[in-house]
Amino acid sequence: MSTNTADVVIIGAGIVGASSAWQLASRGLSVIVLEKDVAPAMGSTGKSAAGVRVQFTTEANIRMSMYSLPVYREFEQRHGHSVGYQDIGYLLLAPHEKWDRHMESVELQRSLGAPVEVLDADEALRYVDFNAEDLAGATYGPWDGVIDPHMATHAWVAMGKELGVEYRLGTPVTAAVPSGSGWELRSEDEVFHCGHVVNACGAWSGGVASLVGLDVLVGPKRIQIFLSAPIQDTRTYPLTIDLSTGVYLRSEGDRVLFGLDDLEQEYGFTEGIEDSWLEHVLVTGVDRFPWWEDLGIDRKSSWWGYYGVSPDNSPFIGFNPGADAWIDACGFSGHGISHAPATGLAVSELVADGEAHTVDVSAYHHGRFAEGGAVEVNVF
Ligand SMILES: Cc1cc2nc3c(=O)[nH]c(=O)nc-3n(C[C@H](O)[C@H](O)[C@H](O)COP(=O)(O)OP(=O)(O)OC[C@H]3O[C@@H](n4cnc5c(N)ncnc54)[C@H](O)[C@@H]3O)c2cc1C
Repeated sequence: MSTNTADVVIIGAGIVGASSAWQLASRGLSVIVLEKDVAPAMGSTGKSAAGVRVQFTTEANIRMSMYSLPVYREFEQRHGHSVGYQDIGYLLLAPHEKWDRHMESVELQRSLGAPVEVLDADEALRYVDFNAEDLAGATYGPWDGVIDPHMATHAWVAMGKELGVEYRLGTPVTAAVPSGSGWELRSEDEVFHCGHVVNACGAWSGGVASLVGLDVLVGPKRIQIFLSAPIQDTRTYPLTIDLSTGVYLRSEGDRVLFGLDDLEQEYGFTEGIEDSWLEHVLVTGVDRFPWWEDLGIDRKSSWWGYYGVSPDNSPFIGFNPGADAWIDACGFSGHGISHAPATGLAVSELVADGEAHTVDVSAYHHGRFAEGGAVEVNVF
């Protein structure tokens, strides 16, 4: 059995683990990343809709975006790697009953420097066709858009490796025990000693934490994404969300990617695409998007993956209160791509400085549920 030592072991080579590894290595720390799959980004990161946005409703989430989106926008200039960022925007269609609340969020977003435009229905119709009946208006985030999560993860992997980060693929962590002031982790025939552990296991984080008897309230919920056949309209549709129903769509080349998140489901690693859910999404969305009547569906190109979901749909970023030197960075509930840059930075500051000081992540502490703080509304 071989033994390995590093300042930090990160469990999970998704976008959060890769971003964290590079940030930690940038501070001169030695880092090993353990990943059960044979390549990085094969978990939720490789299954996402790839959207990045500032249009959140809590101050904490908006601040995470205000750090993260400029990182994506300028990634190539700063680091010489493309992450496939495209500013196609997020277009949120708001009905009358949600308008006042939505405008309060816009005010908060703008007060924190986020660019958000308020549109009437006619202005919004420039982007995509929809039925404006019962809508009070729309908002558009010009910084919002998509990245390529594979490219972003692999960019951070390459940048980390240049600084000495070791990626051990096909290496599932099967046990962990406190050892001295740090940890001993095991994977089949290898042992790893480290000062700090970072749990960046996405939807698997609750299960990994339970290996050491820690409570991390994150579990998997299956999310399905559907693709249409090619359409005639040559406009690039922003990531458009009907706030009445939660149905969303955006352009994917000459097709339309669309879906509706089922967050009411029980936790579980449920697999596959379900025709009944596809039918439900189409029936739910067709009133808002009447052109769906004629939408061809490319059922074979549709896919599914897991959100790592916490009870309030916000992540845990911080030291686990049940153990020393164990940091959780998980539970993003559908916005881990958006917030991976800020999360990696926060993780590195937690390890190196004992607290995150560039972006305030205190709202994501494990014991927040008794405090009645702001809960994110824009979960999609
Ligand atoms: C369908 C879908 C659409 C989404 N759309 C968006 C979107 O538009 N915008 C957005 O911001 N977010 C979106 N998300 C969410 C986003 O994908 C996640 O929040 C993000 O990928 C989380 O990254 P991660 O690195 O934490 O997790 P993951 O990418 O899941 O990485 C965790 C890694 O941990 C590894 N692991 C697990 N257990 C072990 C173990 N025991 N030992 C070693 N390794 C282990 C896994 O193999 C995995 O590679 C979407 C998710 C899905 C499923």
